[in-house]
Amino acid sequence: DSRIAARVRRIKPSPSSAAADRANELRRQGRDIVNLVVGEPDFDTPAHIRQAACAAIERGETRYTMSAGTPALRQAICDKLLRENGLAYKPNEVVVTCGAKHAIFNALSATLEPGDEVIIPAPYWVSYPDMVLACDGTPVVVACDEDDGFRLTAAVLQAAITPRTRWLLLNSPTNPTGAAYSAADLRALADVLLRHPQVLLMTDDIYEHIRFDGEALPHIVAIAPQLRERSVVINGVSKTYAMTGWRIGYAAGPADLIGAMETLQSQSTSNACTISQAAALAALQGDHSFLKGFVAVYRERRDRALAMINDIPGLSCRTPGGAFYLFVNCSGLIGRTTPAGQRLDTDVDVILYLLDAEGVAMIPGSSYGVAPYFRMSIATAVETIEEGCKRIGRAVAALA
Ligand code: PLP
Repeated sequence: DSRIAARVRRIKPSPSSAAADRANELRRQGRDIVNLVVGEPDFDTPAHIRQAACAAIERGETRYTMSAGTPALRQAICDKLLRENGLAYKPNEVVVTCGAKHAIFNALSATLEPGDEVIIPAPYWVSYPDMVLACDGTPVVVACDEDDGFRLTAAVLQAAITPRTRWLLLNSPTNPTGAAYSAADLRALADVLLRHPQVLLMTDDIYEHIRFDGEALPHIVAIAPQLRERSVVINGVSKTYAMTGWRIGYAAGPADLIGAMETLQSQSTSNACTISQAAALAALQGDHSFLKGFVAVYRERRDRALAMINDIPGLSCRTPGGAFYLFVNCSGLIGRTTPAGQRLDTDVDVILYLLDAEGVAMIPGSSYGVAPYFRMSIATAVETIEEGCKRIGRAVAALA
């Protein structure tokens, strides 16, 4: 007998928060920790965005806005979606939320009936399955092969669809693998979805601008406009503009779905922070030239980390096309023995060994639905990344 609801007992705290807490706790105890857990840009929010927030406060923009967000911001989001993604939406088809995470949660909450299935390609962002569970849905995790670049293929999608499938959740570039879907990949997935009209499509585009190769990514809804009436596009300002703490995300989609999300929001959080909305407006409308600099720094770190990791016997990592993580295959370490005589049976063992032996904090692949891997964040100074890789190499060399 619990006084906590079953839907909450089904879920667990985010493993990334747990790993970050563990690293911080060890640091407080005086351990020398290299933290490669964090999933947020280490840059400051650009100055023109910070100034827009200060100006909003001074103008007295400190009251409630419409639950779905200010008309100006919703219009700016429509402009952005047209300009960058080739998608036409009207302001009543857009809702501003407290981060992209909140947009995903509200979309699921507004649509899932008990037993409805949500297809989640793995490796997945840690929050997806738990959000589905919290909304009484059933996560259907489908493994994506490393040999397929960790991308969902049409055949795997087709095999996962049942009459109970309500959503496909698609994230590109992907956290944690950095996999980015090409136009051909998306066309093939769209063709499967077009044969199954009961399936809604949610695209999580939060990393769209953190891309290392080629031009902007095509959007699946622009490739297959017939999907528009059953798609919800999720995005936000956290990663692109180094604005994780401001908590602004958004969803765009058909008016009935967006309206339901708005109703839910009007009876829960109300509007996202008014001041943050003013900042997000400045972000979307302002100069984007800083982005080139951010991405160049991420790319330099990616290249450095990739070279060092792939130099360590027993570890291997594909080149991520976007986002700011390496997803490292550590199958070569499984079955090896630590200097203390412990056998490494799982990627959790590997992670705990690296933390214990060398103070390097990361997240095991099993938290993302596949093993044995670990995720290493590169959203930190290149010196920190180099130190982390050096320590990982030392710890691996000490294994029998
Ligand atoms: N989607 C993915 C794939 C993420 O990795 C994250 C953050 O880690 C989010 C969404 C959440 O973004 P926000 O800060 O806008 O809630």
